[in-house]
Amino acid sequence: MEKTSGGYTDLELDLKTGKRGGRQSHFRQLICDLTGAESGLAVNNNASALLLGIAAVAAGKEVVVSRSEAVEIGGGFRIPDVLEQSGARLIEVGTTNRTYVSDYATNITDQTGAILIVHSSNFQVTGFTHTPRIEEIVEVGKLAGIPILHDLGSGCLIDTTKFGLSAEPIPQDSINAGVSLSFFSGDKLLGGPQAGIVIGNSKLIDLLSKHPLARAMRLDKLSSAALGATLLHYIKGEAIQTIPVWRMIAESIESLQSRAVKWKKAINYPCSIVEGYSTVGGGSLPGQTLPTANLRIESTTGAEQTLHDLRHGATPVIGRIENDQVLLDPRTVLPEEEDTLIRTVNKALQACM
Ligand SMILES: *Cc1c(COP(=O)(O)O)cnc(C)c1O
Repeated sequence: MEKTSGGYTDLELDLKTGKRGGRQSHFRQLICDLTGAESGLAVNNNASALLLGIAAVAAGKEVVVSRSEAVEIGGGFRIPDVLEQSGARLIEVGTTNRTYVSDYATNITDQTGAILIVHSSNFQVTGFTHTPRIEEIVEVGKLAGIPILHDLGSGCLIDTTKFGLSAEPIPQDSINAGVSLSFFSGDKLLGGPQAGIVIGNSKLIDLLSKHPLARAMRLDKLSSAALGATLLHYIKGEAIQTIPVWRMIAESIESLQSRAVKWKKAINYPCSIVEGYSTVGGGSLPGQTLPTANLRIESTTGAEQTLHDLRHGATPVIGRIENDQVLLDPRTVLPEEEDTLIRTVNKALQACM
């Protein structure tokens, strides 16, 4: 990103031929190698990727969505509204808690343009529920000759169950299951820049690339550089050691405890170490936590005042309040940030002593 912003780039130049090249070429091969997809495309974010995908594939047609998946993700991103904006008509099938593969099959007409599967990233439905396997829905689509679009949300390329978390759907599985296009974010669990990535059938990817909206949503050169660099960490098999979100998820409780002890010693203010939980996922993995060792600041001025003081240092420090005391979670601070953290906390709390 630094090189790209400070000088010339080959953003749209093919260095082999000297002719005009495509900006997608900087990451298309990487994302295909990582996911097994035929082709891929990156745009501004996943919301625009989905809008583009539905507009290119199903404008003027019906899109079949399970009632349990016509959801709102984050601030104002509502699946029914996105469908409407892309010119498609939403056909909700099944019920809030149970949708069967037959619900999809019986709602396909000559007006159907696509079946859309949406991962309910930020909430859980528990109890008396049913969702068909992706493969079953793909089968329905294949029989009817209708593309299956799969909005995965987080772009998680690594198996989250290895870290004691629930399974987050991964793009590789979506492609293996035979969906036509999968959509996911470049931030969230991919851990890269804001971006939206679409992978899958190369004819459909071409259709998306040529759609007028594609230009309006295209990724700029800095995000392109960041996305390429992020994907390279996965290609090299070093993502867990290099990408911040995975470094944080992967850190062991022993390591967190020893860092909390180190912080307690270095901070000149009454503190204690308490067991606790880190919330993870950045808009995915609802309700999922990992055990941690928190540093609790035994504030004499009140927790709100302490949080305020920490936020107003040269480097703002953001803690959280639990049981009327401020907690700092070592899982959320990378080791190379520790010196700055300790210096800032000492300075901010000095005034309270
Ligand atoms: C987060 C999310 C989006 C939006 O992605 P952005 O990259 O934030 O635009 C869309 N769909 C699902 C299922 C999501 O979880």
